[in-house]
Amino acid sequence: MTTVVDELIAIVGESGVLTGADTDTFVVDWGRKLLDGSALAVVRPSSTAEVAAVVSFCNAQDIAIVPQGGNTGLCGGSVPLAPEHPEARDSIVLSLSRMSRVLSLDVERATVTVEAGVTIQEVQEVCASEGLLFAPDWGARGTAQVGGGVSTNAGGLNVLRWGSLRSQVLGLEVVLPDGRTWDGLRSLRKDATGLDLKQLFIGTEGTLGIVTAAVFALHPLPSRHRTAFVALSALETLLPFFAHARSHAAALLSAFELLPEEGIVRVQANAPHVNHPLSEPSDWYVLMRFSGGDEIDDALTSLLASAAERGLITDAAVASTSDQEANLWFIRDEVPPSFTFDERGKRHKFDIAIPVDRVVEFFERAGPAVDAVVPGTRTFGFGHIGDGNLHFSVYPGPDANIADYDGGGVELERAIDELTWEFGGSISAEHGVGQIMRERLSGQKSEVELDLMRTVKAALDPTGIMNPGKVLPAPSESERVSG
Ligand SMILES: Cc1cc2nc3c(=O)[nH]c(=O)nc-3n(C[C@H](O)[C@H](O)[C@H](O)COP(=O)(O)OP(=O)(O)OC[C@H]3O[C@@H](n4cnc5c(N)ncnc54)[C@H](O)[C@@H]3O)c2cc1C
Repeated sequence: MTTVVDELIAIVGESGVLTGADTDTFVVDWGRKLLDGSALAVVRPSSTAEVAAVVSFCNAQDIAIVPQGGNTGLCGGSVPLAPEHPEARDSIVLSLSRMSRVLSLDVERATVTVEAGVTIQEVQEVCASEGLLFAPDWGARGTAQVGGGVSTNAGGLNVLRWGSLRSQVLGLEVVLPDGRTWDGLRSLRKDATGLDLKQLFIGTEGTLGIVTAAVFALHPLPSRHRTAFVALSALETLLPFFAHARSHAAALLSAFELLPEEGIVRVQANAPHVNHPLSEPSDWYVLMRFSGGDEIDDALTSLLASAAERGLITDAAVASTSDQEANLWFIRDEVPPSFTFDERGKRHKFDIAIPVDRVVEFFERAGPAVDAVVPGTRTFGFGHIGDGNLHFSVYPGPDANIADYDGGGVELERAIDELTWEFGGSISAEHGVGQIMRERLSGQKSEVELDLMRTVKAALDPTGIMNPGKVLPAPSESERVSG
């Protein structure tokens, strides 16, 4: 009798299908290693035609498809549901990693066309070799792939100047849940002909289709960068310093990241070769980058001098070699892993978007809100503050009994989520929704908004084979009964 695996091998070849223990790393989430799903197979097509054939087959067999890029997503979107999950069903993981070709780089148009499995770093490097900037950039750049970045509308370090991934996408090629392929690989900057279909697939985490290729807009590659690690006088001077930096040199400012001293200490604990950038520690720092031409040196020096005169900052280290600059960004990139690998591992993470002028006020309110639910914890915040994006964590205090520590669970989530909404914010700034945030979405989206999202899902994926159990909250009992 022909099995599902035999049929899949017939489409993508023996080397394109993994089963048994070979699927292990594909069914567990990167970030928490807690979401342990199961899959009939991991299927690795090497062309769009193969993706379409696999999807047609799964559609006919009612097998769910979980698209996967680098599996660096932090919300469990890229792994199948656990077997005990009420919505679990027969699934395959569809890995795009063998579709890793740069299809074309057009210098005159300033665009690049790539398959979905190319890593972010590879696109950056290919474009830089032609003097062009592919702006998306974040810590997982060496593993995260184009398809994953598009499907989560990834943010990262350069959003302040060049926008999130959504604003770089000019065109997409997508395999739809019924197996048809939509070729929208256009490189136009303007197109006023109705619905902008590519937007349906950006940030929808593989629930509406499989991104197989993308065209991105590129920018002139800044000839120089200068990075400064700046000690704030106090957290209260963060926003005045940001406002001062923007009024001083908005066109040159390409990153503005907040880091606490505690983050630096933890990075050093995990990576002892890292030197603290300043001789006198402070509680809070800003890691900022200027990008441009020769003008950046004077602009940065005069900004730091005037900010010190105004009492906004107390000290700064400006990288003068590329090694020093790499060391500063290494620290920034390592702050999230340094916590993830905390041996006590009992951390509750939030990826919050807040109107930028209210970030400090949010901090001031979040501490007491956490304390009211789980007294004795510690809070930690860092992130892309120039975009109003705060990565906020709550973890056990020094005296906590780790064995009994439950971290506040749902009650803590509710407290921080409600505070976020009170500030007009979002509970997911850039990491997406995946499995772990989907039920909390109901608190943020109105019934009208959820209904629109469900209508689009039902229209494109009526049998629900695309990444089930992700993004959209589960239908209520009454919705299930009424069909
Ligand atoms: C150290 C570290 C730092 C990070 N920093 C940031 C940051 O600063 N900003 C940020 O935004 N994110 C960050 N992330 C999160 C993560 O890297 C991004 O979400 C990234 O976009 C995921 O890409 P991926 O290829 O790993 O996708 P995956 O994790 O494999 O998938 C993510 C989602 O996209 C779907 N998907 C993947 N490929 C496709 C496809 N071809 N078609 C349709 N759906 C698809 C998956 O089903 C899943 O729902 C970080 C992660 C790590 C580990």
